[in-house]
Amino acid sequence: MADVLKSDVVVVGGGLVGLSLGHALASAGIETAVVDREAPAVAANDAYDGRAFAIAYGSRRVLEGLGLWQEMGPHAAAILDIRVTDGPSTLFLHYDHREVGDEPLGHIVESRFVRRALLGRLPDRPRLKLIAPESVTRLERGRSGVVAHLAKGRRIEARLAVAADGRNSPIRRAAGIGAMEWGYAQTAIVCTVALNRPHESVAHERFLPAGPFALLPLPGDFASIVWAERSEVAPTMLALDDVEFSATMTRRFGEALGPLRVVGRRWAYPLGLLIAERFTADRLALVGDAAHAIHPLAGQGLNLAIRDVAALAEVIVDSKRLGLDIGAADVLDRYASWRHLDTLALLAVTDGLNRLFSNDVGPVRLIRDLGLAAVNRLPALKRLFMHHAMGTVGDLPRLARGEAL
Ligand SMILES: Cc1cc2nc3c(=O)[nH]c(=O)nc-3n(C[C@H](O)[C@H](O)[C@H](O)COP(=O)(O)OP(=O)(O)OC[C@H]3O[C@@H](n4cnc5c(N)ncnc54)[C@H](O)[C@@H]3O)c2cc1C
Repeated sequence: MADVLKSDVVVVGGGLVGLSLGHALASAGIETAVVDREAPAVAANDAYDGRAFAIAYGSRRVLEGLGLWQEMGPHAAAILDIRVTDGPSTLFLHYDHREVGDEPLGHIVESRFVRRALLGRLPDRPRLKLIAPESVTRLERGRSGVVAHLAKGRRIEARLAVAADGRNSPIRRAAGIGAMEWGYAQTAIVCTVALNRPHESVAHERFLPAGPFALLPLPGDFASIVWAERSEVAPTMLALDDVEFSATMTRRFGEALGPLRVVGRRWAYPLGLLIAERFTADRLALVGDAAHAIHPLAGQGLNLAIRDVAALAEVIVDSKRLGLDIGAADVLDRYASWRHLDTLALLAVTDGLNRLFSNDVGPVRLIRDLGLAAVNRLPALKRLFMHHAMGTVGDLPRLARGEAL
């Protein structure tokens, strides 16, 4: 790369979100440079982080529109039903995809296959440049453009910068954008299990006093576990040998699918909530975890981010087609106001559910169980919840509606 690279957009952070945005913009003719401090070769070599994503139906449409789903689909397991239970209670909420149509409610895909698709399609995108391993050390934002200074002394000049640099977002902090955040005192223990009985494409969410325990179907007789445990207890659980660890999980989840058997290693993710005070500043937009991080209980963090990507790409592409300045304040305002409501709603729902269910207080338990049972008997409300989980309600960007960018 020359000492100065000129681009339309510079994206700081080439995680799943930054790279997805790069694909979206480049597919519509916008020159985009994505900078990530990790080497892509390591990522392509399956540097697996244990996470499996619930890709909602609406997100799948975005990924299909970008030509990325074709690579991920063969590694994905469909979710046909979702069963929500409150500990050992027999009252539960059951979402059946047939109540809203023929399509699965979503798919579970391991993060390595999402990453592989994002990296594998790079050669087809001449307008997308991934610069890695490289760090953005400073971002200068002027009246008519931005300059990203890189650790190795080079720089990128662009009209607009996007921070996709994760939850601790150095770019957000340097821009003076504050964030509201708190920890949940919970750690997500993440691993893969082998099952004795077929999962039948059912995703399970079991609310336990320490936190929600999710079992998500993977291809074959395997499932991904996201087990939110009290942070002070999690290290003890993580240190158990495989036999004890598997038995502990089975006690928590129950015997519905036979004994659960851990396969491979376990990962731990401390959980917390974060929302940036603003999603934009002069010539800067925030996307993904840099803008918001939510509890994984509904499996919606990446889905929210994919909607950020689709919305931001749409406002940029539209302004470029009209010959306007893609980094102008009114373009960024449109993005920020578009994304605000969806983000706040999901933040409130995931935070509220975690608070409501992560306790064992008798009267609270009774009320919430009656609530689950009531929703289960109200088809219209249930359908609305299902459409939310599928990411098919609200003011959706074109890509999420299955239309071209
Ligand atoms: C246990 C768990 C389970 C989850 N399950 C789901 C699920 O089922 N469904 C779902 O939708 N979501 C889920 N999520 C949420 C999802 O993982 C995140 O929302 C998503 O991965 C955020 O991606 P990101 O690209 O914004 O951030 P990150 O993945 O953090 O990427 C940030 C990138 O920026 C780079 N970077 C940072 N600073 C710089 C710099 N200065 N210069 C260059 N590069 C830089 C980093 O190297 C990194 O690659 C889950 C989260 C957890 C913790």
